[in-house]
Amino acid sequence: MSGPRRHDVLVIGGGNAGLSLAGRLRRDGCRDVAVVEPRSVHHYRPLLSYVASGTATLADLRRPQDEVVPSGVRRYAGTVASVDPARSVVVLADGTELGYGDLAVCPGSEVDWDAVPGSREAVATAHAATSYLPEQAEKTWTMLSSFRSGRAVFAISDRHVPCAPVGLKPLFAAVDVWRRTGVLDDIEVELLVEGPQLVRHEAADRRLRDAAAAYGVRVRVGTTVRSVDAEGRTLALEGPDGASTLGYDALYLAPPHRAYDWIADSGLATEDSDGFVAVDPETLQHVAHPNVWGLGDAATVGTLPSGGALRKQVPVVARNIQARRTGRTMRRYDGYSVAPVTTSRRRLLLAEFDRTGRPEPSLPVVDLARPRPSLLVFDRYLEPLIYWHKLIQGRVS
Ligand SMILES: Cc1cc2nc3c(=O)[nH]c(=O)nc-3n(C[C@H](O)[C@H](O)[C@H](O)COP(=O)(O)OP(=O)(O)OC[C@H]3O[C@@H](n4cnc5c(N)ncnc54)[C@H](O)[C@@H]3O)c2cc1C
Repeated sequence: MSGPRRHDVLVIGGGNAGLSLAGRLRRDGCRDVAVVEPRSVHHYRPLLSYVASGTATLADLRRPQDEVVPSGVRRYAGTVASVDPARSVVVLADGTELGYGDLAVCPGSEVDWDAVPGSREAVATAHAATSYLPEQAEKTWTMLSSFRSGRAVFAISDRHVPCAPVGLKPLFAAVDVWRRTGVLDDIEVELLVEGPQLVRHEAADRRLRDAAAAYGVRVRVGTTVRSVDAEGRTLALEGPDGASTLGYDALYLAPPHRAYDWIADSGLATEDSDGFVAVDPETLQHVAHPNVWGLGDAATVGTLPSGGALRKQVPVVARNIQARRTGRTMRRYDGYSVAPVTTSRRRLLLAEFDRTGRPEPSLPVVDLARPRPSLLVFDRYLEPLIYWHKLIQGRVS
């Protein structure tokens, strides 16, 4: 009896994680790798922050998906509806079933507008925007660059937001332009950060606060936006001093994200994984299904989700798939992540840290956590080339 079509390794999601892993597996000699990815256009998402800062366009970050899928990797242009880990089968929305030897689950996450009632309505107006969705990124800069007076509020959630500190990029681009065009004195800038720090790296956090202070930005950490009144342009806040309200004339949101429902519905989440794929954060192997792996924004990797983190996660999963089959020792991921944050339109710092928050610099000699023009050039112009030509082709070490 013939069962569903089967692949040695099947990857759910052809984003940063999925393509990098598929390419890496092919390079390591795995002959049969397939990716399920419904979108016909691939986005290099870090450039969205530059679109929202007026220094990149959407065309700069888009490529046809079929042109970027690594050679030798089969792509299914479908959407995964569920996984049956007991049968080692993935079911697509059109009913197609695909079997697998090992499964890597990396569909990313989605904006959770429901977590902040009124936020969806707010970003539908001209007075609020986010860089976290392509259709909103250009609008963010239109809103900020045309702003002349009033209160501009930037709110950054720490609930599963991919590379959350990059939400500061549109802020620093805006205050820089406002100062240069002479309107900064007429603008009250409030930064609301849900977490305890702007970034989980002491020196970088201090430098970002200094940069914010130099522009007169009022920074409030530990402050959550509970809801938005889009019509009255008012935020309901919860902070260290309790509940309060704050009016805005322009609002930027780095909104909470959530996992896709089918992950929990397929039994890939656990009670304490908040709907995300429950993996051992070191081996990235699923806690209950040994031939299932999770990486990227969709998995419980216990650190800031970021593209930079994938440079370390991908080789771990590629190696551990082989280790599971051969009984060799598994490699461990230390929770490395990175946040590249601008402090103006000319300078950027790189905060690199491990799961405990300990700095983990990639260059031992140069202090990359200090804002530098060269780092901005690297992040804006070189990193995208490395992404298209190396990382998502599986040249990840
Ligand atoms: C605005 C913004 C700025 C960022 N800036 C930086 C930065 O400067 N530096 C940095 O390191 N990181 C940055 N990041 C984070 C980085 O982009 C993510 O961490 C990275 O893209 C995660 O990769 P992923 O493959 O897990 O998820 P994604 O890149 O989101 O890819 C997931 C893929 O899965 C597909 N998918 C979803 N559901 C299904 C389904 N049901 N079936 C099949 N496929 C599905 C999606 O279409 C998508 O292509 C930024 C993110 C954003 C949004």
